[in-house]
Amino acid sequence: MIETRSNNILTQAVVADPPPLLSIKDLRVWFELRRWAFSRAGYVRAVDGVTFDLGYGEAIGVVGESGCGKSSLMKTILGLNIPTSGSVTFEGQEVARLDRKGLRWYRSNIGYVQQDPFGALAPFMNVQRILEEKLIVGGIQSPAERLERIRKVMGEVKLHPADDYLEKFPHMLSGGQQQRVVIARAMLLEPKLIVADEPVSMLDASVRVEILKLLRGLQESHNLSVIYITHDLSTVRYFSRRIFVMYAGQIVEKALVDDLLNNACHPYTQALLTGTSEPDAANARTFKEIPPGEPPSLVNPPAGCRFHPRCARAIAGLCDKEQPPETSPAEDHLVSCWLVQK
Ligand code: SF4
Repeated sequence: MIETRSNNILTQAVVADPPPLLSIKDLRVWFELRRWAFSRAGYVRAVDGVTFDLGYGEAIGVVGESGCGKSSLMKTILGLNIPTSGSVTFEGQEVARLDRKGLRWYRSNIGYVQQDPFGALAPFMNVQRILEEKLIVGGIQSPAERLERIRKVMGEVKLHPADDYLEKFPHMLSGGQQQRVVIARAMLLEPKLIVADEPVSMLDASVRVEILKLLRGLQESHNLSVIYITHDLSTVRYFSRRIFVMYAGQIVEKALVDDLLNNACHPYTQALLTGTSEPDAANARTFKEIPPGEPPSLVNPPAGCRFHPRCARAIAGLCDKEQPPETSPAEDHLVSCWLVQK
């Protein structure tokens, strides 16, 4: 009897889910609008009740149109926005409660890959200075160690031989090379999480696939967790395990990549999938066929389902009045739509 109970305990310990690297719980990020200094005009509800976990080594894609709240979500994860409510927890530490030393630890564990590589690199610094700055801020005191790390990571992002690039300024590099420098900078402090904000949208079609392959290779070789933010479902499938679809500050559908691409349930996701193409150099078209109409104001979002003014399948008297609950049509698949039953 005792043995059986012990075995049960052992089995439970083995099958228990490992703790996530990052945990977002009911996150709200609202920005106050003011008419005059003492007159509040309302709030921009940029992120409004987002919850998800990100595992070690897991890559997720966050997809949605401009203004859906994905950039505000990203900035909050980076520690640049303060949550209005809810929490961001990294390795068990709630980010909003970290002191200066804790924030330094947190930021050294997150690499950020910006959308516009040229804008992300100081034009008056050469590549070596740009990369050294990151290491100095990260507390690497030894110049020899800094140079060794820089050479190593430049090899990893395929900027080799490193000596050919160290003295160059950003304007002397191609767009693809600039983005490799941005990725190198993000990798320098050996982070556990990379946040990539539309990392290929401003690059020539011919180099997009190379940069996506590079990110995927780094993710696999370093067991990195990645949050890939994009408006383009054709690239997110490239290396994400799960896709989250955001609309008007909320996640309306989340599922494993194949499940979402083949069995999308939410009318908004279905519309986004229309016209999506493979991201190759010869066919670099990205989807354009988003639903007609504009995303709603985040100051006064529509009552009920926020998508109802644009939804061809909206149920009058229900969708425009009550927010749909989150239901699970399949394992690891959640959707917020009145049309979807458990
Ligand atoms: Fe459309 Fe209603 Fe579903 Fe919203 S809840 S997506 S309005 S059918």
